[in-house]
Amino acid sequence: MPETANTEWITEELDGLRKAGLFTHIRTLTSPQGAWLVVDGKQVLNFCSNNYLGLANHPRVVEAAKQAIDRYGIGPAAVRTIAGTMGLHLELERRLAAFKGVEAAITFQSGFTANLATLPALVGKEDVIFSDELNHASIIDGSRLSGATIVRYAHRDPADLERQIVASQATGYRRGLVVTDGVFSMDGDMAPLDAILAVARRHDCVLMVDDAHGEGVLGRGGRGIVDHFGLHGQVDVEVGTLSKAFGVVGGVVAGSQRIVDWLRQRGRPFLFSSAMTVPDVAACIAGIDLLEGSTELVDRLWANTETFKREMQGLGFDTGASTTPITPVMLGEAPLAQDFSRRLFEAGVFAMAIGFPTVPRGKARLRVMISAAHSPEDLDRGLSAFEQVGKQLGVI
Ligand SMILES: *Cc1c(COP(=O)(O)O)cnc(C)c1O
Repeated sequence: MPETANTEWITEELDGLRKAGLFTHIRTLTSPQGAWLVVDGKQVLNFCSNNYLGLANHPRVVEAAKQAIDRYGIGPAAVRTIAGTMGLHLELERRLAAFKGVEAAITFQSGFTANLATLPALVGKEDVIFSDELNHASIIDGSRLSGATIVRYAHRDPADLERQIVASQATGYRRGLVVTDGVFSMDGDMAPLDAILAVARRHDCVLMVDDAHGEGVLGRGGRGIVDHFGLHGQVDVEVGTLSKAFGVVGGVVAGSQRIVDWLRQRGRPFLFSSAMTVPDVAACIAGIDLLEGSTELVDRLWANTETFKREMQGLGFDTGASTTPITPVMLGEAPLAQDFSRRLFEAGVFAMAIGFPTVPRGKARLRVMISAAHSPEDLDRGLSAFEQVGKQLGVI
């Protein structure tokens, strides 16, 4: 009898990934998050993180986490429904609801688990989920877990959404739910939420938006995509993350008291996985304090974004369809994108190459994430590295 099971196939699979150029090399950081990082021992300008506002290592956020640890320790030591709900969790939820202008909010361990909690709580086998074809993996997984029929509609296309709803009505279903990313993470384009809402209302569907890349970025002072479109009180479910602009880790669902009450009873990651830790919660509260106190960070994020995109376009780069700080630099073939990224890294700039299957074949790109933490000198430094490598490779 063998001592262990035969897992030889995993080695073969891993080798296959390496041969196809699809193996993910995970780089190691030995510095805090910020405009500059130490990555694999090298100091590089950071164009990769979702640290939109520089909160991941903001002194006030760090201080709030330290003070909370001194007072309450670290771990919640239980799921929220047993002994894991601390006053701090409820304070964060009240503050998030007030910040977003909704009746209530509920937090989760991550944006991913927020989607895994919400979709199966709201729909089941007799129901239909209408989902943008480019929605995030956590929406796809949450949709599958729910057991509902999943109908994909064309990316950002309310007319196709309506056609799909009408076609499904012909065969009949109990409840319908429309779900879309707010900002799509690979192209930086935004869902036309007002038009999608109109379709959802006409057909009595619940509307759920996952605002992971819009939280702290879009709307007045970073209040998110619903605020950006002025749709307060009309979008049923807003999922957000505390892991991107908030610079911490966690997820949130904001909406009506009724939906939040239901998620406290039926959201499985809420019921069966432990609560956010004390320093995470305190850091998120400090983040809201900063955002409510001043729009400075959000304004700087957008100013940096405009400068960078304008200058990149001036150099002759194609920055795609982005209307947000996510700035794709379209290069076409994956090997070119990888080569570009490698040369930038040698020049001290860290920007990720993204290829198939994350984006379609022939649409490989670098993805530049702009942050309020970048100084004008940082942006200049990044631009000149892009110019140098772009010329070397004949892209511009
Ligand atoms: C990043 C992201 C998530 C996951 O958020 P985490 O808090 O990192 O788990 C969920 N949905 C979308 C659309 C995202 O972009």
